[in-house]
Amino acid sequence: VAEYQRPSTLTEALALAGQGGMTIAAGCTDLLAATRMQSLSGPVLDLTGIAALRGITATAAGWRIGALTTWSDILHADLPPAFDGLKAAAREVGAIQIQNAGTLGGNLCNASPAADGVPALLTLDAVVELGSAAGVRQVPLGTFLRGPRQTDLRSGEVMTAILVPRVTGQGGFLKLGARRYLVISIAMVAGRLTVDGGLVRSAALAVGSCSAVAQRLPAQEAALIGLPVDKAAGHIAAELVGPALAPITDARADADYRAVAAVELLRRLVDQINGRLRHDG
Ligand SMILES: Cc1cc2nc3c(=O)[nH]c(=O)nc-3n(C[C@H](O)[C@H](O)[C@H](O)COP(=O)(O)OP(=O)(O)OC[C@H]3O[C@@H](n4cnc5c(N)ncnc54)[C@H](O)[C@@H]3O)c2cc1C
Repeated sequence: VAEYQRPSTLTEALALAGQGGMTIAAGCTDLLAATRMQSLSGPVLDLTGIAALRGITATAAGWRIGALTTWSDILHADLPPAFDGLKAAAREVGAIQIQNAGTLGGNLCNASPAADGVPALLTLDAVVELGSAAGVRQVPLGTFLRGPRQTDLRSGEVMTAILVPRVTGQGGFLKLGARRYLVISIAMVAGRLTVDGGLVRSAALAVGSCSAVAQRLPAQEAALIGLPVDKAAGHIAAELVGPALAPITDARADADYRAVAAVELLRRLVDQINGRLRHDG
């Protein structure tokens, strides 16, 4: 295998990936930073020449987001309010240069606990599509992510798309860092509420950077169902949020701070979503 391959079709890419031992490269914004070297060692499979892996299409089942879709593509896409959380996350990934190069697939495959795309995609019930020379399989995002830098991606597989079912409601995202811009999250939250007649009909909430893998909050979600949406923020409770998380202490914040921050961010997020609903309705 040559040192660097940049195929233009998925079939070629999957054949190359099947030979094993290649480093898959997309925007390289995580990859190069992770090597701490001036160049990657070993053979590289660059996916950026495969046009079919980039872009968002509406399908009968929902939306198909190519794994090579960049954060800037997300920001400029015409998507319903349920995707507002993903758009807000896109706006906060690094700065514009990173948003232009960095891809959703890279963010998910890198599997950082602080990956900003994960909470919003969890609240969109995203499923990832993984291709190999042997075929295609689909895995729910929450199962695909196994731990820090650990995924369900097998040797010879490439992430080809992120699939979002026909979701409804209003989404949102909030991120807390040590400064306003270009910051790794201390905690971030995403949510999507469906409201009917002023009452919460369905709730999807997720917290990132407060556990090895970002988590949905089933107990807290269930507690919001049926509440007047303008009172819902007051029902975000540490007892319902805390058990789903396992915050760590690191250079950015200690575990107790993260636990408190997650609850406060969720309250603000639910208020923000309520504000958007009233504004639109
Ligand atoms: C200055 C700076 C600021 C940043 N700020 C943020 C931030 O605020 N929030 C945030 O979440 N991230 C941030 N990042 C991290 C990074 O930009 C994002 O995670 C980005 O989405 C990664 O995408 P990429 O295409 O560059 O991935 P790459 O670096 O190309 O790849 C990352 C990993 O995923 C694998 N991979 C990539 N695509 C595929 C695929 N299709 N199939 C299989 N494996 C694949 C690669 O082999 C590699 O292991 C920042 C990075 C930098 C350098």
